[in-house]
Amino acid sequence: MSHRYSVVVLPGDGIGPELTAAAVAVLEAVQKTADFSLALDWHMAGAAVYRDTGRAMSDDTLAACRAAQATLKGPVGHPDVRGPDGTEAGVLGGILRPALDAYANVRPIRLYPGVTSALANRTAGSIDYVVVRENTEGLYASRGRGFVTADVALDTMVMTRQGCERVARRAFTLCRMRDGAPDDRRRRVTCVDKANVLRGFAFFREAFLGVAKEFPDVEAECLYADATAARLVQDPGHFDVLVMENFLGDILSDLGGGTIGGLGMCPSGNIGDRAAYFEPIHGSAPDIAGKDRANPISMILTAAMMLDWLGESATGSRIRAAVHAALGEGAVRIRPDGALVDGTRAAARAVVERLG
Ligand code: NAD
Repeated sequence: MSHRYSVVVLPGDGIGPELTAAAVAVLEAVQKTADFSLALDWHMAGAAVYRDTGRAMSDDTLAACRAAQATLKGPVGHPDVRGPDGTEAGVLGGILRPALDAYANVRPIRLYPGVTSALANRTAGSIDYVVVRENTEGLYASRGRGFVTADVALDTMVMTRQGCERVARRAFTLCRMRDGAPDDRRRRVTCVDKANVLRGFAFFREAFLGVAKEFPDVEAECLYADATAARLVQDPGHFDVLVMENFLGDILSDLGGGTIGGLGMCPSGNIGDRAAYFEPIHGSAPDIAGKDRANPISMILTAAMMLDWLGESATGSRIRAAVHAALGEGAVRIRPDGALVDGTRAAARAVVERLG
């Protein structure tokens, strides 16, 4: 019996439409030999929509994302599109994450063959960890609510017991499905915080250690975020799964991206218990938009994560294998600054040609 999955597609701003075209080309190619199909429902949302309508996303589009089995989203935003409070108005995380209760932002950081790491002597597979970023609270819960006068600005970090425990549980569950850290093959979840300074982080750590008792087969460790930043550069093979507060996860996962060929190598899933949406971790890169220079691997691997969520992980793995082959054979080449040698469309074609 062939499944048909409903998927909302939000191409986004800047490089978003180019990357979405690449990912959809790969999805269309894999469906030819798979026993499922995708019903793609295209909607516009983001900075351009905000500029035209005063809202980043319409009620109809949000309802479509809620009703769909998954949403595939390109990066959005433009630094010049700002709301009355001065923050950027065209980004969607503050809308979609709470609306879908997508509380875990799962960000795999993996060095593929043929990609030169910014770190010396790193070979394919020697960096392979996942950042699980809490997605609905933490410091970003203050979005739109900060208190500002002429002399003072105040943003508040929020941690709830339920929020901390469920994201920790997601990290341990994910860890059980992996093969452990590259260096010692131990299944390990690292809680990253600043429990030495802020009570909210101590609360996060305590909740993490409570959940860890449910997973005695997985090693649980706690590190401070500043030390973790250094270790992600000096000793990345130690890490398997890391779980952390929203703002810390935003920053440290981009650091990870810098070690595996740039942000254009970084997919992600925003995953709740009942709904999810999938997007690259990077932004709309206005500096290279429309130039056929953006690396589409982030969005192609994002599409593979979406298939995993839909229960089609065999096909998700086919896509990852094709990416592996295209990079390993030099059919997709990435410069040290993260730009592509041969162009976005050519990279997508190279992946499509290698789908087994
Ligand atoms: P960015 O991630 O867009 O770009 C940072 C750097 O990485 C740029 O030099 C860019 O060219 C490069 N880069 C990003 N993706 C790339 C790719 N696929 N291939 C090659 N190079 C790539 O960050 P920014 O410039 O700080 O932000 C631009 C806009 O994106 C802002 O409006 C920001 O708010 C928004 N943003 C959106 C999301 C999202 O939609 N999830 C995430 C982060 C930032």
